Amino acid sequence: MLLALALQVVVTAGVSSNEVEKALAPKLPALIATYKDLHASPELSEKEEKTSAKLAVKLKSLGYTVTTNFGRYDDPKKPAYGVVAVLKNGNGPTLLVRADMDALPVTEETNLAFASKVRTKTVSGLETGVMHACGHDVHMTSLLGTAEMMVQLKDRWRGTLVLIAQPAEEVGSGAKSMLAAGLYEKFGKPTYAIGLHVDSESPAGLIATRPGFLLANVDTVEITMRGVGGHGAYPNLVKDPVVMASELVVALQTIVSREVPPGEAAVVTVGSIHGGTKSNVIPDEVKLQLTVRSYKEEVRKLLLAGIARIANGIATTNGVPSDRMPIVAISTTDNTPALYNNPELTERLMTLWRNELGESAVAVKEPRMGGEDFARYSLEDRSVPAVFFFVGGSDPKAVEAHLKEGKPLAQGHTARYAPVADVAIKRGVQATVVAATSLLAL
Ligand SMILES: [Zn+2]
Ligand SMILES: [Zn+2]
Repeated sequence: MLLALALQVVVTAGVSSNEVEKALAPKLPALIATYKDLHASPELSEKEEKTSAKLAVKLKSLGYTVTTNFGRYDDPKKPAYGVVAVLKNGNGPTLLVRADMDALPVTEETNLAFASKVRTKTVSGLETGVMHACGHDVHMTSLLGTAEMMVQLKDRWRGTLVLIAQPAEEVGSGAKSMLAAGLYEKFGKPTYAIGLHVDSESPAGLIATRPGFLLANVDTVEITMRGVGGHGAYPNLVKDPVVMASELVVALQTIVSREVPPGEAAVVTVGSIHGGTKSNVIPDEVKLQLTVRSYKEEVRKLLLAGIARIANGIATTNGVPSDRMPIVAISTTDNTPALYNNPELTERLMTLWRNELGESAVAVKEPRMGGEDFARYSLEDRSVPAVFFFVGGSDPKAVEAHLKEGKPLAQGHTARYAPVADVAIKRGVQATVVAATSLLAL
């Protein structure tokens, strides 16, 4: 009895999913055309100038009050292309709905008629194709569909709707830039925040999320193992940073296996290691780049402290002079907090979606160690209840073949990733509008 009471979630129905589907049907062809256009003209992180302008025009034409070029990066001279579209509809709660806009430096190989042919140069001068390989074009189109539906259904809800198109998710600076520019001060601190991501692991249309931690805290760490270089034939005369770096790569794994309490999630990955120029020259230093992931703050602190301690310990054991101890730099810009779904709000929306879309249309997602800067919108004190959910985007047959026979699925961030966009967009709009009209119920 107690358990039953605890699990009972109060859900106010908004507009029904059938009604949303009916209202959306005549708008879908135009939305899919917009999707194809966005897909064919992707822009890299922090460069979403044309994409944001297209969204702003559409949102304005629907009657939203639109602010463009919203955001402030750490370098205040760098323009930010955030879009904030507000629809005030009487007294009531404020709901923030977020989509991200940036694409990836991937050369598309999908052979779709609307495949991207865009080429550009990365900041490091590398020539590359550009592709919406993470599905942010699906997210933007869903946001536009939601915008349109919420105007059409205006007499069915009350409150303030704040739709944001966020730049630079892939590099982790976008959400931060919009909050730094005063998103909550200028447009009101939202009562709730929701956002979605198309999911290459799930069959098209399946909604999957979970209460609590869904995605990881991401830190980037650079370590310079310094030694004293010399001739490769006389190792007795040097302090070899290659040997020390090799010891370090292996020893770092003991933090996860021996220090983190079993049952807590943690990842320490050395993704890059560079040192030396020639077989018989021992270099002065070796550089390593790490991604460090966890959910809980105490685990994060333990990982970061362990990395510094082990690096210094190895240097000391190898007799490195005190002025050549390792440099361990934890990036203050390249990081994302763990994504924590407000448990009550998540249960509420999952129940609502099950009621509206059917039991089998909603799944509980296992937590992942990927990162998402949507996490920032709930704020450090988690005072903004936020829910991030996945919408399946893969061919159900391909997902089945993957699960049964281990056939590889085209993953997000790869050149052949082509989500079943029409189904994902339709479901994205449906789920968002059902949720929005329930949260902003009359
Ligand atoms: Zn991505
Ligand atoms: Zn993404």
